[in-house]
Amino acid sequence: MNKPIKKIVVLGGGTAGWMSAALIKKTLGNAVHVELVESEQIGAVGVGEATIPPIQLVNSVLGINEAEFLRDTKATIKLAIKFEGWKDQDSSYFHTFGAPGKSLAFCHFHHFWIRAKKLGLKTHLWEYDLNYLCAKEGKFAQIKSAEPLFEIPYAYHFDASLYALFLRKKSETMGVIRTEGKVVDAQLNVETGYVEQLQLENGKCVQGDFFIDCSGFKALLIQEKLSSGFDDWTHLLPCDRAFAVPSERCEKTLPYTRSIAHSSGWQWRIPLQHRNGNGLVYSSSYLDDDKARELLLSRLDSKPLDEPRLIKFTTGRRRKQWSRNVLAVGLSSGFLEPLESTSIHLIQSAIVRFIKTFPHAGVSQTAIKEYNRQSEVEYLQVRDFIVLHYYQNRRTDSSFWRDMRNLDIPDSLRHKMELFKNTGALFREQNDLFAESSWLQVMLGQGITPKDHHPIANQPSDEALFEMLENIRKIKSTPIAELPSHDDFLSNYCGAT
Ligand code: FAD
Repeated sequence: MNKPIKKIVVLGGGTAGWMSAALIKKTLGNAVHVELVESEQIGAVGVGEATIPPIQLVNSVLGINEAEFLRDTKATIKLAIKFEGWKDQDSSYFHTFGAPGKSLAFCHFHHFWIRAKKLGLKTHLWEYDLNYLCAKEGKFAQIKSAEPLFEIPYAYHFDASLYALFLRKKSETMGVIRTEGKVVDAQLNVETGYVEQLQLENGKCVQGDFFIDCSGFKALLIQEKLSSGFDDWTHLLPCDRAFAVPSERCEKTLPYTRSIAHSSGWQWRIPLQHRNGNGLVYSSSYLDDDKARELLLSRLDSKPLDEPRLIKFTTGRRRKQWSRNVLAVGLSSGFLEPLESTSIHLIQSAIVRFIKTFPHAGVSQTAIKEYNRQSEVEYLQVRDFIVLHYYQNRRTDSSFWRDMRNLDIPDSLRHKMELFKNTGALFREQNDLFAESSWLQVMLGQGITPKDHHPIANQPSDEALFEMLENIRKIKSTPIAELPSHDDFLSNYCGAT
């Protein structure tokens, strides 16, 4: 048990496997050998194309050249998600990676805006958000300015299989060993129950001191071998299937993901340089597979390039993400539907957490406890945020949406919503992945209007308040006229055609 960790074996070569291998090798260097086992015959899940801004940390740690990355993964820029039909059938709003207005000491900008709305202001909150203004106009550039109001936080849409390949090349250059083969069994030490080696179909064995289970939904080590248990959240998030299909690229590449609500779920549209990624996420209790497939095909905005592929899943999380000498990363650790593009981020965050708690002298129970505690908090926070989108709806077209309105939501979410509704207050708790501006946009977008605002927002006179808001709006929109279109940016920056 207290054997020093000199060799780490990663099982699986999807996004989780290659991101884990690359980050561990890059940060721990020669302190560990990393070997990754994957089976081409089994392949990766092949979806997972929209990300959120912290992915830039992965690129920076790995020393990735952004233009090369965009070119090789056929990526585009993502500034936001547009939610269409989520509050009611005719509504839409953006959840951007930016923040409306300007940060003010002790009191968020939106309190001033709420007060001004009560005084008759017509401008909506997003007009003070540069990400929204860029997304709406289809524009983007990396603005180099000391002015924080001109920041445009962004992430990427990329081709999932090209991304895994890209990370594989980086990992192999750093010395990660790749072994091709199908794992058919794993041997446990009879005394400790720790995994000692993987048994491959071709007769080969791969030994290690520590194993990272990136085998996808199969969870070959963490569940099949170590029975770590699963918290099933289907009662809160009943969608359990998706059809995914690529389609031809559209003439103009949008710098945001579209999330379009349907009668029993929702559809994603992800613009890439060479094609669009599309999918329909739905609940099989409300919609059968044939109808879901038909619905997706009838709602594409370009010609499909393949047959739709069905993916089944159960929403929830592995109870012990780290058990003995096995860490689950990626789909083997749990799954939350891709509504807010959080899965790839959860991979990154799991590996960063593991590196921070890395037990080089041997697996330690305190490290395991701390890792599992942090991981649970993170998963619960993301879960609550996703549930909010469904629960706070006013759609009248189906029993699915009516049932979602009647969910018995977690107290943590109920409290957050009540606080916002009554006071306009939002607090970011324990490193919640989603900052106040995210909760704000989704709560407002889904139709929660705060009854009150913070008294600090009462300090300026009515006239001074309107003047301040108008100044901020003007400053925020200043760069727009000068910015290139998203397509021009891609073609100038990375040669996209
Ligand atoms: P996989 O990609 O399934 O990889 C598993 C690996 O294990 C493969 O290499 C496979 O060959 C290997 N393997 C399995 N069994 C064996 C064996 N016996 N022997 C050897 N090798 C084996 N995330 C986002 O962040 N954004 C999104 O927009 C997004 N959209 C999604 C849409 C859908 C419908 C789904 C289901 C997921 C989505 N995700 C998204 C999640 C994202 O796809 C995954 O988090 C990501 O791809 C990581 O998957 P993985 O590497 O854990 O598993």
